[in-house]
Formats: sequence, structure tokens, C-alpha cells
Amino acid sequence: PANAEITSHQLLLRGCFIRKVGSGIYAYLPLMWRVLSKINAIVQEEMNSTGALQTLLPQIHPAELWESSGRWQAYTAGEGIMFHLKDRQGRELGLGPTHEEVITSLGGELLRSYKQLPITLYQIQSKFRDEIRPRFGLMRSREFIMKDAYSFHSDENSLKKTYKDMENAYKRIFKRCGLSTVQVQADSGAIGGAASQEFMVTAESGEDFILTSPDGKYAANQEKATSYPKPAKPLPNSNFAEINTPNQTTIDDLCSNHDIDPTQIVKIILFLAHLADGKQQPVLISIRGDQELNEIKLLNSLRIILNQEIFRLSPIDKEEIKEQNLSKWPLGYIGPDLSNSLLAGAKDWESSFVRIADHSATALDNFICGANKEDTHRVCCNWELIGSSPTSRDLRNAKAGDKCIHNPNQSLEVCRGIEVGHIFQLGQKYSKSMQKTFTDENGSLQPFWMGCYGIGISRLAQAAVEQNNDDVGIKWPLSIAPFEVIIVIANNQDLIQKDLGEKLYKDFQKEGLDTLLDDRADRAGVKFKDADLIGIPFRVVIGRESALGNVELFERSTLESKKLTVSEITKVLSSKISSIKKQGVL
Ligand code: ATP
Ligand code: MG
Repeated sequence: PANAEITSHQLLLRGCFIRKVGSGIYAYLPLMWRVLSKINAIVQEEMNSTGALQTLLPQIHPAELWESSGRWQAYTAGEGIMFHLKDRQGRELGLGPTHEEVITSLGGELLRSYKQLPITLYQIQSKFRDEIRPRFGLMRSREFIMKDAYSFHSDENSLKKTYKDMENAYKRIFKRCGLSTVQVQADSGAIGGAASQEFMVTAESGEDFILTSPDGKYAANQEKATSYPKPAKPLPNSNFAEINTPNQTTIDDLCSNHDIDPTQIVKIILFLAHLADGKQQPVLISIRGDQELNEIKLLNSLRIILNQEIFRLSPIDKEEIKEQNLSKWPLGYIGPDLSNSLLAGAKDWESSFVRIADHSATALDNFICGANKEDTHRVCCNWELIGSSPTSRDLRNAKAGDKCIHNPNQSLEVCRGIEVGHIFQLGQKYSKSMQKTFTDENGSLQPFWMGCYGIGISRLAQAAVEQNNDDVGIKWPLSIAPFEVIIVIANNQDLIQKDLGEKLYKDFQKEGLDTLLDDRADRAGVKFKDADLIGIPFRVVIGRESALGNVELFERSTLESKKLTVSEITKVLSSKISSIKKQGVL
């Protein structure tokens, strides 16, 4: 199919599991609905076993709810991802991308006393997010199915206990769905400190990067991962000087024209922070020349430094500067001490930089950096000469080869992952902003402690395909396959074959096997190809030998086939399937 870049997306389209209706909008066709229903059943069983209660919350959210938590603006303006609309009375509404606001407001009304706590509510429902780049089919769509759970507690310890219960339930869910996942520390965004973990399906096509230590003790999303970079190469002892560097505006240019190493350079990156109060704050970032900036870390640090919500960050480039009617900037030659006077007269920007540096830059005693004038760099510069060191934070991407913070003898490795689940200690963020309280044992009003726990059900279904396929099609794990068994009648014109196929279909059903009968008039080869493509774990082929009382049993996962007699097939199949079910995973 055109526009399907990754294997799982191609296979789901070719197998007629899903059909695109619009950008990032998909219909789940009958085979897919069976897969989703099986995943839902596993999720429901495991959620219920923790004591969580299922519910169903509205998908249309009044704007006031999101205004009371302070998120309406961030979710609807600029790059905000909430679809929003007005009703006939002109009242604003949003289509639910997530349900913290709705649940916190309900909790506040219904949970009055500590005696009602803790409690966990969950739902399985379509979510709406106007993603900037919907892609890869169900992996990043604009309408998708999510299981979201929310817990309410009277204290932090109770929250931590439920968080642990959810972590264990998630492990069981992914295992039972036949997925191999890695649990990683995750970014907890604007909330700081609070714990948050993601469950990742490792796959080449994943959009997230995961850093792990070979001893298995460290695993984190790159948005969160910290590490020690390789040591900087010391600069030879010499005096501060300005050097002429025409046409050397990049780290590569500088290094190839002089005997220097990227670790000896302080590189400058300029960003504009778009703030909740409408202001546009220029930010000057210093980072060691060989390191990459991580925008999520930058965003989190700036939120704390500026003490307010930031809608988005955008890079400051030549066009942006021109747009602001600013005079010529020495781009490519900027140093950490670029003068605020360059901002004078800007149309929309604040008049001084927020200066922030990665630890890798502030740790340098001696470095090379731009001299804030065309064609010139400074060598043997230091933070004293600069005037002061900027606020120092962890802003860099941890990368493969960096040393692990737990054990510097371990070098981190990197792989790609697909986030299928995310558990999160919200703390009191929403209960405080929305002023939702309960009465504690001493009769005083306290904001709830809360947690939230999400699983992308439709993404999980596709991730299972990404992890289980071969050249000819899908190999569904038994527990979430649309059917457990497919009976293929090789030649439907042959009455012996047809009758036997129909008889076995009834026998299998009686035995409790979830069976599909392929009795189409097509050629056998076509039916085998389709069976390979849609990936049902067991295939029973009724062919010529059926006249002799024999059928063939083919296993999609191992590609092994075996001749069996009609009298034994039901028993053999049934015992194979129940033993796989007992193990929990195919
Ligand atoms: P991402 O970082 O991939 O955008 P997220 O962190 O914003 O996801 P959460 O708010 O944690 O997502 O949502 C819970 C789960 O819902 C995710 O772990 C993921 O499995 C799923 N999910 C999120 N966005 C999408 C989407 N656009 N399409 C399909 N599934 C999604
Ligand atoms: Mg997430």
C-alpha cells in the first residue's frame, strides 16, 4: 500500500484489518475488532484483579474543566493537540485527548471522605489528539483507543502502593499479549520529581530512543536519561586569544581548519520560548561542541526557571531575526555572553536572554567559543572571562557509549522503542489546580494524591504485529489473534473436503476453539497466502488426503506442518492451545 512505511502498517492494511478514512483516522475492520476485543479482555481482567473499577467517561469536555486546571490554552492554542469546537450556544468544548480534568472533577464531587480512598477508576475508549505528524497507521493516529486509569489517595504512600500494583498489572498485560517490553524511566514533564515509567516495545521503527546499561540495571527514555559524557580533550596551556575564522560557522568547519576537538568548544543554540502569558522569551543555550541538545529537557528546565507554562519552543534562525526587525547578528560566531542589546527594538520578544548551559559546557575550564563578531572565535576562554557562568542544567541527549550514572564501568547502549504504556504519579497537580479535596481523619480538607496509568490499545495491537511477522505476513501471538485456528478447505468443489471442513469447524467450536472456516471458492494457493498474511496461529488444511482420513496441521509461528488423522486433530489442537494458554504467552 502507498504511504505505509513500516511493516506492521503495511500488513494490517493488506490483511484488511484496518482502513484509512482520513489522515490519522482509521476504521477497525472485523478481524481487527476481534484482536482489539481480545486485548481489551486481557486488560479488563488484569485491571479488575487490582481492584480497579471500569467506567466510561464523556469524550466531549466543557472548556471550563480544562480552564480550571490551566491546560485549556496549552492544549488548544498553537501546537496544542486538542480538537475543539463550539456548540450552538457558542460554548467551547474539547474532544478528550486524556481525562485528568474530567476524573478529578468527578472525584472532587463523589469522594468526600478519606474512608472512600483509595480508589482506582479506568475506562477503555477512543481518544482524540490532533497530532502534528500522524503516521505509521495506528502507531500515531488522531483517533485511537486507550485504556486510561486514574487513582485517588489520601497520602503519597497509598499512591506509591497503587503505582506498584499498576506496574505489576502492566507487566502481566504485556506478557499475556505476547509482547516483549522494556520498562524505562520516563520524562514526567512539567510535574518534576514525580515518578513515571514507560513500557516500550523494542522495534527498529520506534519513535523513542531507549538508553540501557548492559547489566540491565539502567533503562531510560532519552527524554529522561542521564549519563556521563566522554571526557573533554584538554586544551593545550596557552593564553586567551581571538582568532580569525572566516567561513567557519560550524563545529566541523572549526575542527577541520584548526587542530581542535569538538569537546573543546562551547556551542551556542538559540531558541524562543512561547510562554503562557503570551510573551516570547529568547533563550541562549551553551552546550559542549560534541553534544546534542534535548528539547524536552530544555523545556522542563525552562518551565522551572521561568515558573510558568511554556506552549512550545521554536529555534531562532536568520528569518526569525529578520522578522523581528533586528540588526545583524553574528550568527555562527555567537558566544555565551552575546549582548542583550541585540534584542533592543525587537517587535515581539523580551529584551534580555535567559542564559542556560548544559553541565558539559559549564564543566569546561578552558574552551573555544564565538567572539560575538563576524569571522572571529575566542580560544582559551573561560567562564570568568565570559563574566559569569549561566544556569547549569542537564540538557543533553544521553547517547550510546556514555558512561552509566550508576556504574561508570558500564557503557550505555541505545535502541528504538514504541511506547505502549505509561504509568505516572501525578501527585497533587490536578487536585490542587482544580481545588478538589476530601476530608481527612482530622476533619480538615486535603487535596487528593493521584496517579494515572495509560495503555495505547490500538497502538499495542500494531506493535504486536511489528514484533511478530515474516516475509509473508503476520504471526499473531495466540492470546490476541483474531482467531486461534483457521480451517482451509483446499477445494471447495470437492464434497468430501467440504463436508469434512464443515464437520471439523463444528467440532472445534464445541471444543471451545476460536475458529475461522475458509470455504471460499478461490484456489487453494490464494487461500494459503491469505492465511499466511492474516497470521492465525494454527491452520488445518483439508486437502486431497481427506479422503484417506488425513489433514495437515500448520503452525504459523514455527512454519512447521504435520500430517494428522481426522480422529486425532481436535484433541491434538485443543491440547496444544490449552498448553500455550497456560504458559500465558505464545
Ligand atoms: P507519545 O509520546 O507517543 O506521543 P504520549 O506520552 O503523549 O505518547 P500518553 O499521554 O502517555 O501518550 O498516552 C498513553 C498511551 O496512549 C501511550 O503510552 C501510547 O501507547 C498511546 N498513545 C498516545 N498517543 C497516541 C497516538 N497518537 N496514537 C496511538 N496511540 C497513542
Ligand atoms: Mg506517555
